[in-house]
This record gives sequence, C-alpha cells and structure tokens, in this order.
Amino acid sequence: MTDFDPHNTNESKDKDLDGIIRPQELKDFTGQREIISNLKIYIEAAKMRGDALDHTLFHGPPGLGKTTLAHIIANELGVNMKITSGPVLDRPGDLAGLLTSLETGDVLFIDEIHRLSPEVEEYLYSAMEDYVIDIMIDKGPGARSVRISLNPFTLVGATTRSGLLTAPLRERFGITCALEYYDSEDLVRIVKRSSSILKVDIDDEAAKEIALRSRGTPRIANALLKRVRDFAQVMGDGLIDIGITKYALDKLHIDTRGLDSIDNRILDTIITKFKGGPVGASTIATAIGEDQGTFEEVYEPYLIKEGFILRTQRGRIATDLAYEHSGLKKNDESSLF
Ligand code: ADP
Repeated sequence: MTDFDPHNTNESKDKDLDGIIRPQELKDFTGQREIISNLKIYIEAAKMRGDALDHTLFHGPPGLGKTTLAHIIANELGVNMKITSGPVLDRPGDLAGLLTSLETGDVLFIDEIHRLSPEVEEYLYSAMEDYVIDIMIDKGPGARSVRISLNPFTLVGATTRSGLLTAPLRERFGITCALEYYDSEDLVRIVKRSSSILKVDIDDEAAKEIALRSRGTPRIANALLKRVRDFAQVMGDGLIDIGITKYALDKLHIDTRGLDSIDNRILDTIITKFKGGPVGASTIATAIGEDQGTFEEVYEPYLIKEGFILRTQRGRIATDLAYEHSGLKKNDESSLF
C-alpha cells in the first residue's frame, strides 16, 4: 500500500467530501473561535453599512480552513465569489478581467497569494486601495494608460507562507487572521459532523482516534475518515469502531501521534544525521529532499507544537519526546529509515 499523503489537496477535491462536508456558514465552522467571533462582527458591520468587507488575509498551514472561510464570507455577505490562485494569475490582463467582472461587494479569493508575480501584484495595489486599475493600451509610441474604476470588492487572500508576502501587499489587508492547528475535541466534532453528513456510523472511541491522528488538521481528519470508511465497508459491517480504525490507520502508516512518514523522517534525520541538533532548517530540508519553505511552514510548526523539536537561535533540536517517539537513543547511529 502506498503511504497516505496528508497534504494531498486532491483528497479535499473529492466531490463528496469537499462539496457536501465543507461548512457553508459561520455557525457550522468548528474551532478558530476568536477568528470566527471577530469575522462575525466585521461581516455584520459591513452589511449594516452597506460597504464591501475589508480585504482579508488568512494564513496558516494547509488544510486548516482558509478556503472554507473564504466561501463562508461570501455566503454570509450574500455575494458572489470568484476564485483564482497566485500561480494561475500570471498576466496582469487576467487579473484585470477578473476584477472588472466583480459586482459591488463581491469576493475575489486568491489562494497561494504569496506566489503572485510582482507585475500582477503591483496591479493589485491600486485595485485594493482605491478600486481602480490602470491598464496599458497599445504598444510602442501610441501606448497610453487608461484608468478603469472597479466596483468595491473584497479580496480574500490565503497563504501558507505569510513570510513571503511583500510588505506593501500585507499592509493592504485590513483583516489578518492566523489559523491555528485544531485541538482534538474540535477535530472529534468535525469527524462526527462529517460522518453524519456522509451517513456513516462511527463510535466515540473511533472518532477520537481519527482526531488524535489528524495532525491537528480538518482536511486530514476528513481524508482519514474517508479511508477508514472504505476499510469498514469492505472488511467489516460498515460501522467505524476502534478496531477497524486502528487497523486502517496502521495500514496508512499514520502513527499513534498522527505523524506521517515525512514527519518521522525529519525526526530521524535530526537525531541520526545531526546528533539531535542544533541544525539549520535549510540543512534539514536538503537532507529530507524537501523545499525549506515547505519544511518551515508545513511540517515544522506541528512538530514544534507537539513538542518533538525545539527551535533555538542555533537551529532545531530534537527533544526527549522525539527520541522516545522514534525509539532512538541519544548518540544512536542507527536509522529507522
Ligand atoms: P485550506 O484552504 O486552509 O488549505 P480548506 O478550507 O480547503 O483548507 O479545508 C480543507 C478541508 O477541511 C475542507 O474540505 C473542509 O471541509 C474541512 N474543514 C476545514 N476547516 C474546517 C472546520 N473548521 N470545520 C469543519 N471542516 C473544516
């Protein structure tokens, strides 16, 4: 069996999961309580004033609900949403086309906004600030710039790499929300809600087990639920209980702390190749064959939060918990991988 890739966004693109399970309104959104209660106020206030909501930036690791919140904002405001992403929007003309198609109060959602080209980003500044864009018409000596007014709109940006956003872009967002990993109680609620929508029976112990192994991430919780459901259907009577859950999760190589094979490789690398650290992020990333940004913004935050690694001035250090978890002893030269 191939390893389960918890960061595979295709899992969430699965129609039944994404379309049906994705919460549509603020009241269905579990967790991130402070963000939700603030958003409620901002949305309510914008509606009372009849203004477009301020531009909003969501940042945090993948699968925590940034796209979901963008959909919810549009729903709660009762407006349409256009969706695009930084890498797709590579020509200013594409952005101009999207912006001019927005009606008053509409939401433009740009995923992976840190990957916008500088040229496109520049166009966005005046659009965000003054709802205008200057378009160049013709080339050569006849070239001139024409100013086009836009309807007031809300830009919702999402990024896993807020550190890569330029200051001028970041400053143009009136609302910035940092999404945090979910605790297991919230993930249990999410798993139970998803199971009831998918009409699968799951007992409390099984829901808790899936929650604990989901890396604090709703996308992973939903994806694991879906995989465990397959095992329960084929190998059992359809009921998701603790036995079938543990069996399926072991088959998917999700360990008891919810770490996947890359997380474990990171711990193993720090311990065996770098004697437990301190070691720099770029060195770790190279050793495991990952991009440094992905290591720092996707993998590391969870390992730090769960107490497996420490971030110090001199680099990353494996904690006692990491040694215990990987079964390696200090100064152990052998590798699990
Ligand atoms: P991101 O954009 O941050 O990568 P998404 O918004 O696409 O994450 O969320 C991934 C999946 O997790 C979605 O299918 C959504 O249904 C689910 N999800 C995310 N946050 C929540 C939540 N708070 N409650 C319930 N489901 C959630």
